[in-house]
Amino acid sequence: MAGADVIAWRLIRSIFRELEEDRSREIHVTDLVYECPRRAYYEKVYGYGVTSLQSAFVLWIGKKLHETGMDGCDHEVAVEGELGGVRVVGSIDELCEGGDLIVDKKTTRRIPRQPHEHHVLQVLIYALLLQKMGRRVPRRGAIVYIDVANAETKSYEFPITATALASVEKEVAPRARELATALATGKPPKPRPGWLCNYCSYVRRCALDGE
Ligand code: SF4
Repeated sequence: MAGADVIAWRLIRSIFRELEEDRSREIHVTDLVYECPRRAYYEKVYGYGVTSLQSAFVLWIGKKLHETGMDGCDHEVAVEGELGGVRVVGSIDELCEGGDLIVDKKTTRRIPRQPHEHHVLQVLIYALLLQKMGRRVPRRGAIVYIDVANAETKSYEFPITATALASVEKEVAPRARELATALATGKPPKPRPGWLCNYCSYVRRCALDGE
């Protein structure tokens, strides 16, 4: 039994090390999808905020899932561009149908009845960066949810329009600037309390930092 524990612990240690290696000071598309840039700042400065073995496993399963590409699509397509004068980078899970469709994969423990707004926003930011790079702008996006608890999947498709891309740029450019300034100065952005606080690993730190 003790031997088995040691072996399991070695795996767990490797999982934590892999997650730690993912930390980067670059501003990623995923840093801009939530209203609260302070959370993204904490993630960059202090790491993922893995507070339990369970949350580490969820992150790790998601990471492994993303390593599997979809047939007939370009897998992990790198994008980058300026938003609000700040360099933003990202990696599109799957670019399909000759560049007409962006697919983003999400692991979950309950498939939502409609795609989450911040997941749709993520796809729209990818499309905006493709546009800035002079690449073909996809006309459709899709989120595929993979319920790891019940082995179910469901995809939701939505159109990508020029109007949506213009409003996305207005929404996320100030967020990118605020995050970049915070990283440069070492002063956390203002908190934006909301539903995300219920899932945020940095609640205590945020309270200590105050306004
Ligand atoms: S606790 Fe809420 S306001 Fe504070 S960083 Fe987390 S999400 Fe933002």
